[in-house]
Amino acid sequence: MKHRELRASLIETALRMNALGLNQGRAGNLSVRVAGGFLITPSGMAYDAMRPSDIVEMKADGAVTGRRAPSSEWRIHLDIYAARDEAGAVVHAHPMFATTLACTGRPIPAFHYMVAVAGGRDIRCAPYATFGTRKLSVNALRALADRKACLLANHGIIALGTGLAEALDLACEVETLAAQYWRVLQIGKPRILPAKEMARVLKKFEGYGLPSVRLREAGLPSVRLRPAAHSLRATGREAGRASAPAKPRKPRKPRKT
Ligand SMILES: [Zn+2]
Repeated sequence: MKHRELRASLIETALRMNALGLNQGRAGNLSVRVAGGFLITPSGMAYDAMRPSDIVEMKADGAVTGRRAPSSEWRIHLDIYAARDEAGAVVHAHPMFATTLACTGRPIPAFHYMVAVAGGRDIRCAPYATFGTRKLSVNALRALADRKACLLANHGIIALGTGLAEALDLACEVETLAAQYWRVLQIGKPRILPAKEMARVLKKFEGYGLPSVRLREAGLPSVRLRPAAHSLRATGREAGRASAPAKPRKPRKPRKT
């Protein structure tokens, strides 16, 4: 896909993210990988006012091109693309239930088998660090080791995909699980599935896509679903790299165009 189409797709996905109720206002940010770097939503701009020319291109070394400054969370995006070869898109949002859980610092355990959709037997919660910092990026990458989604304590969520649609699907799924887990916590102690069963589920997920019924159950419109929700499971090498992400350079000031 050409840059111009990807820029439009980025805006369309950002609008859809808010329309789905996954995010409110100008919070959250999205990116998609391109040759030599990635395209990312700009800082502090309403999605409905965004034009393709507002999207910022960032190179793998942190250099930026565009008339806007990149999202304040550009560092997480850059470090994910450096550490996770399979990541084609990254969605960061502040959805209600996942963020509520993240404000207690707790992960989402295997209370439901669909937790495996994020690549493992739980969805980790990265320790808190100030937004936009390298520390937050390091924490997020650690929480994402062998996973393709995580919570960020006192902040929100991150979801990866091979493309924008897949990343958004996963963000929806994480929010659905968070909403269910939150409700379970209201009525009693969740029954956590044993590791052996989750290993079986993870195996079964190989070759299956996200069941669209799950989105309907949560009252979310079904977005375009892709097969192989497991396809981003990190390899051991990637998990190892996650603890030592690439050191990005500070981005240069955007060029005036
Ligand atoms: Zn955020």
